[in-house]
Amino acid sequence: MGSIEYGTFVLGSKVLMVLGHENCGAVKAAMEGKPVPGQIGSIISAIKPAVEIAKGKAGYPVENAVKANVMEQIQIINFSPVITQLVQENKLKVVGGYYDLDRGKVYLIS
Ligand SMILES: [Zn+2]
Repeated sequence: MGSIEYGTFVLGSKVLMVLGHENCGAVKAAMEGKPVPGQIGSIISAIKPAVEIAKGKAGYPVENAVKANVMEQIQIINFSPVITQLVQENKLKVVGGYYDLDRGKVYLIS
C-alpha cells in the first residue's frame, strides 16, 4: 500500500490499474485450497475472499475469481485515505482490468 500511495501521491501517477489476468496460477491455487510453502500462503489468503464471492457464478470459474479479486483489491486500495482523497480531487483514477492472454488485450472491468 505504501508503494501505491508513493506512486500516486508523491510521484503523481494519474491512473492506478489493478490488472488481473487469464489463467492466473495464484487464483487457481486459492481455488484449490491446497497447502503452500513459506509466505506464498499470504498471497493465497488475500485472494480467498474473491474466490468465495465468485463461487457458483455463471461463466468460467477462474476468470470469475480473477475479476472478483480485482474488485476486492480495488476496495482494499480505497481504504487508503491518501488514495480516496486523490480520487475525490480528480487527480487519480482507480480502474480494474482483465488481461486476456489469448487475445493479447486488456479489458476494463470497472
Ligand atoms: Zn497471476
